[in-house]
Amino acid sequence: MEESKIALVTGGSRGIGAKTAELLAQNGYIVAVNYLNSSRMACKICNHIEGIPLCADVADYSQVVDMVNTIIQRFGRIDLLVNNAAISVTGLFTEISESEADRLFDVNVKGTLNCSKAVLPYMIRRKSGKIINIASMWGEVGASCEVHYSTSKAAVIGFTKALAKEVGPSGIQVNCISPGVIMTDMNKHLSDDELYELKYESPLERLGAPEDIANAVCFLASDKANFITGQVLGVNGGFVI
Ligand code: NAP
Repeated sequence: MEESKIALVTGGSRGIGAKTAELLAQNGYIVAVNYLNSSRMACKICNHIEGIPLCADVADYSQVVDMVNTIIQRFGRIDLLVNNAAISVTGLFTEISESEADRLFDVNVKGTLNCSKAVLPYMIRRKSGKIINIASMWGEVGASCEVHYSTSKAAVIGFTKALAKEVGPSGIQVNCISPGVIMTDMNKHLSDDELYELKYESPLERLGAPEDIANAVCFLASDKANFITGQVLGVNGGFVI
C-alpha cells in the first residue's frame, strides 16, 4: 500500500483552510491542521479527518519551528505546505494604525515566509515537496480600503515566484492560488448589497465557496501538476481576467 503523504495547512480551523484539510484528507493525506484561536473547530475537523491539530501563531518563527518539529518527530517528513492563514484589515489607508499594519504583515507575509523556511530543509533533504500559497485577487489588482491587505498578498505572489526559482532545482514546486470572493468569515463584514454587487461583477455570476479553492489546492498538490511552478492560479469566477 502507498504511504500516506503529510500535509500542513496553516489556518486550517475555519473557512478555506478547513475545507482544504478535509479534501486533502479525502485524497489520502495525513493533515496537520494549524490554528491560532479556534481550538474547538480545529479539533472537530481533526476528529473528522483523523488529522492532528497544532496551535501556533504563524507570525512567530519559534512557534512555527516547534510546530514543524512536532510533525517531523511524528511522521518524519512534510510533503505539502499550504500557507493559508491570514487576516484582513479594512478601512482607509491613512486610518489603519501602525499596530494593525504590523500585525497584518507579520501574519500574512512573515507567516508565509516563516512556515516555508521551517519546512524547506526537510523537503530539500528529500528533493521533493510542494508549497502552495494562498494569495488574493486583490494582490493582483489592488482593492480600495484594503490597501495593506492587497500589498501583503502582492508580496505573497512575489515570494511564490522568487522561491520557485530558488528551490526548483531541489525538486520543490512553489505555486500560488489567487482566490476571488469566497464565502467565509473573512467576508462577514460585507452587506447583502455589497455581496450582490460582487457576485454580478463576476462573469460566472456567483460567489466562491471554500471548496472552489480547496479543489484547486488538491490539483496543484497532485502529480497532475508536477510541471507547474511559480504560477498564480486565479480561482475567482472570472472576476479578474
Ligand atoms: P477565515 O475564514 O478568516 O480563516 C482564517 C484562518 O486563518 C483561521 O483558521 C484562523 O485561525 C487562521 N489564522 C489567522 N491568523 C493566524 C495566525 N497568526 N496563525 C495561525 N493561524 C491564523 O479566512 P478565509 O477566508 O478562509 O481565508 C483563507 C485564505 O484565503 C487567507 O489567506 C485569505 O487571505 C485568502 N483569501 C480569502 C478570500 C475570501 O474571500 N474569503 C479571498 C481571497 C483570499 P483561528 O480561527 O484559529 O485563529
